[in-house]
Amino acid sequence: MVQFEICPNGECLSDDQRAAALAQPSFGRQFTDHMVTVRWTEERGWHDGRLEPYGPFTLPPATSVFHYGQAVFEGMKAYRHDSGSIALFRPMANAERFNRSARRLAMPELPVDTFVRAVELLVTQDRDWVPPGDGNSLYLRPFMIATQPGLGFTHPSSSYLFCVIASPAAPYFGPSGPRALTVWLCDDYVRAAPGGTGDAKAAGNYAGAFLATRQATAQGCDQVVWLDAAEHRWVEEMGGMNLFFVYGGSRPRIVTPKLTGALLPGITRDSLLTLAGELGMAAEEDRMSTSRWQSDCASGALTETFACGTAAVISPVGTVRSTTGDWQIGDGQPGPVTHRLRTALLDIQYGRGPDPHHWVHKVC
Ligand SMILES: *Cc1c(COP(=O)(O)O)cnc(C)c1O
Repeated sequence: MVQFEICPNGECLSDDQRAAALAQPSFGRQFTDHMVTVRWTEERGWHDGRLEPYGPFTLPPATSVFHYGQAVFEGMKAYRHDSGSIALFRPMANAERFNRSARRLAMPELPVDTFVRAVELLVTQDRDWVPPGDGNSLYLRPFMIATQPGLGFTHPSSSYLFCVIASPAAPYFGPSGPRALTVWLCDDYVRAAPGGTGDAKAAGNYAGAFLATRQATAQGCDQVVWLDAAEHRWVEEMGGMNLFFVYGGSRPRIVTPKLTGALLPGITRDSLLTLAGELGMAAEEDRMSTSRWQSDCASGALTETFACGTAAVISPVGTVRSTTGDWQIGDGQPGPVTHRLRTALLDIQYGRGPDPHHWVHKVC
């Protein structure tokens, strides 16, 4: 296990400044006082673990991450429970996915206990940055970049930097809860292809997605729905979230696209597949074509659609827009099954309900 040297920030924000920042958290722009870094070289493996003041890196312009995009990341949250204690949600699952992403990008794996320890150290040091209140959290961003200087590209980098930073976050959709989104069926650009990096949290996947997101915005939509690369027919994901389709009725059935290798295996997705059974719903992984999505909405069999991920938890989808026209899902508003699943998940994450799967990982 990597040892961590603790180098506290001598210039932390004052209590008043931090309180002001937390009163209106600007997710992804305001960061806490510290970060954790660990370095890797071929000779030494992982070494130089450090908790240190949040601050810039100095890297030569020839550093390989700038040219070849060898970078992977994770997204997770720390939640403040009513008791005041702070917990993570399934952090080992993030650590294991981080290593799968690293393997795909030919990067070194970080031992799971070192990954979790790094996150725990940062959360404990900056615990006053975890905002209280329903829906508030401290968003954690572990990531790894290739740091070898040089433009040779026949080999992966021989050195890497792992880092964790943290940003306070308010509920993605404001205190009134999520509104139903309008989504754009993107039938020209693709996010991922079989054999590619779509099932890794690789930075470059996002770079490749921005143009389609801009296209969606120009169409008056909130998000892009990605279709499969070969036929542009099978629904894969929405933006950076997994999708679920709800067949309503007395025993609802929720369906999510199968993990084909081009989809990111979301931890929220996996958790909902488990929770559904406990809430008396059937859950299955299957393929969903755009034509079936549309016709099952028209017949009334498919009553709701939602997207899920750590950042926004669960977002209802109300309207689908495509080059061939629009259709509405149910009455176009957030539905009851979406609401039940969202409440059940948040109750576990915020420590308000039983945790039969031991997903809650108390930090301090
Ligand atoms: C991170 C991510 C998700 C959601 O994963 P969670 O573990 O649920 O946060 C879904 N799709 C993509 C493309 C992602 O990057």
